[in-house]
Amino acid sequence: LMDAMTDQIGVALERIALQSDLEQALVTSEAERLRAALLSSVSHDLRTPLVSIIGAASSLADPTLELSAPARATMAETIREEGERLDRYIQNLLDMTRLGHGALVPKRVPADLREIAGSARHRLRNALSRHQIEVTVPVDIPTVLVDPLLIEQVVMNLLDNAAKYAPDGSSIHVTAHAEDGSAKLSVIDDGPGIPADAREKVFDMFYRVGEGDSQRAGTGLGLAIARGIVEAHGGRISAHAAKAEGRGTRMTLTLPLSAKDTPA
Ligand code: ADP
Repeated sequence: LMDAMTDQIGVALERIALQSDLEQALVTSEAERLRAALLSSVSHDLRTPLVSIIGAASSLADPTLELSAPARATMAETIREEGERLDRYIQNLLDMTRLGHGALVPKRVPADLREIAGSARHRLRNALSRHQIEVTVPVDIPTVLVDPLLIEQVVMNLLDNAAKYAPDGSSIHVTAHAEDGSAKLSVIDDGPGIPADAREKVFDMFYRVGEGDSQRAGTGLGLAIARGIVEAHGGRISAHAAKAEGRGTRMTLTLPLSAKDTPA
């Protein structure tokens, strides 16, 4: 009997070893698939704004073109906007690499969500210039315990998406308040909304709704990074419908309050 049991245990152990080899292979091929997808996405996404920048700069530099002053101003504006987009994109890639290595350890200092929201809005003012922006954060909102630059990065990603997916001229609303020992910040837009079955998937790397027919430039990385940053703070982020019939998007992040502001 003992021998039979030893045999059985041996077989079971071998199975476990085999299984974990298989799992290991799956994990490796998944990592490789991600790496390949990332590389092609990065080269595409870096090139798109660069092509606009090079095109506009070449036209500006061409003496035979005799451009009008407004035309020159538009081209200069294109160079700046696309340059800023590249800058944000590279910042996102850096954050993502650090998150992947567990090297993004947020510093945690008491921070004011009003200032964070205001600063994100200011830094994105060019990308937001075609929308009505409203920021409603109480002056006495309790401080959160976060890395202010990283959370600003998250709010910028959310604002950038709102401006990208909601029609020009529509309103984007940023609100924040304290609730149940945490702070909640939402970015609400009046765009097409995210279908209910995609509201969780949009936080996956490279996932984009209706990828094939989308004319909006994008990488599908912004929200994955946003979630990584928020979770590294012990917070949460989720997508909701803002209006009836699933229209509009509300992205809400929940962050821990500083100890001195947490009700005992
Ligand atoms: P990207 O915008 O670069 O595609 P994100 O990770 O920021 O990547 O977003 C993933 C997808 O979620 C987007 O491609 C888009 O389909 C959807 N999405 C994100 N924010 C919004 C929004 N405010 N309104 C509608 N769809 C959105």
